[in-house]
Amino acid sequence: MQRIRTIKPEFFKHDELYDAELQVDLPLRLAYVGLWTCCDREGRFKWKPRQLKASILPYDEVDFSDVLDALEIHGFVRSYEHDGEKYGEVPTFKEHQCVNTREAKSNLPEPPEYDNAMHVRARARIAQEFRGKNVTKTVRQTIYARDGHQCVRCDATEDLTIDHIFPQSMGGTHFPSNLRTLCRPCNSARPVAGQALIDDLASDGLTLNDMQRTCMHVHAQGEGKGREGKGKEGNSASSPSAGRVVSIQPKQSNPLNAETWTAYESAYQQRYAVAPVRNAKTNSQVVQLVKRLGQNAPLVAGWFVSHNKGWYVQKSHSLDCLVADAEGLYTQWATNHQVTESQARSADRMGNAGRRLDSLVFDDSEPF
Ligand SMILES: [Zn+2]
Repeated sequence: MQRIRTIKPEFFKHDELYDAELQVDLPLRLAYVGLWTCCDREGRFKWKPRQLKASILPYDEVDFSDVLDALEIHGFVRSYEHDGEKYGEVPTFKEHQCVNTREAKSNLPEPPEYDNAMHVRARARIAQEFRGKNVTKTVRQTIYARDGHQCVRCDATEDLTIDHIFPQSMGGTHFPSNLRTLCRPCNSARPVAGQALIDDLASDGLTLNDMQRTCMHVHAQGEGKGREGKGKEGNSASSPSAGRVVSIQPKQSNPLNAETWTAYESAYQQRYAVAPVRNAKTNSQVVQLVKRLGQNAPLVAGWFVSHNKGWYVQKSHSLDCLVADAEGLYTQWATNHQVTESQARSADRMGNAGRRLDSLVFDDSEPF
């Protein structure tokens, strides 16, 4: 049974929900609001994608499982299981709804205590599935339109491509703030790693410190904007939202330490949909890494998270692995050649997923 729910005017200005929607090309805003009408008074619902779709998006040609997964990655809903049945909850439901006292009590099981490790795993799995997907057609068209259908570097109007400002190989995301229109020659000319990339970013007024803001569309007040933000970010206020992980600003004296942490954190967040733990131990690991790799530390740290070597994946790309293999990883990164165990025995096992991941790691120029 669906119920009448309240919607606040601020909802329509929820920029993160909009960005999430653009990123996956699914009607997340409408689905999210619709979901409230399917929640009981505790904000719980049965995780039944087909039934929910029939109630919420009857005419849209979408798979509602994808919709729920996308909402879960971004922290707008949370799934849990009870006696073999799957349920969901909207964590912020009671903050935003004034439920009529006569409304029936929930007859759905209570969600378990929030188990961070469990949700990290669930979100990482879902994020991994979405990561394999390319920039959607809608996003592509939106970016071209935003940039006036011309290369933002040389104003060419032919042979346009979508460029990731912070390359995907270092954890750059499909968020609109990390995308821009470049003609193919300008795109191909961009370096993908090393000092050359740092110089290239500098020509757009960006440093590695801008990576997280650009890639996760996190607004930092009073900061300069890259040209990709032209005309879009100026009036959008930062809004608190579910799932936002607030990063702690690094305080080390060497700016490379902060840059290294930011690059690692941003790539990690992209891969696992949560921020990595930060504490005294990780701080000293970052310092050690900068001592050993110097100015390359930030780029190697970001790139490391995209590395699919079994041991790294097993250890969830912990900094322990990065520190243990720092010099070797630097060499691989510098030669821009990722040797993974799966590639080594890939001849007979390379499925679509593997290929997709490869193109994700290496190919930053996407055809029109
Ligand atoms: Zn150009």
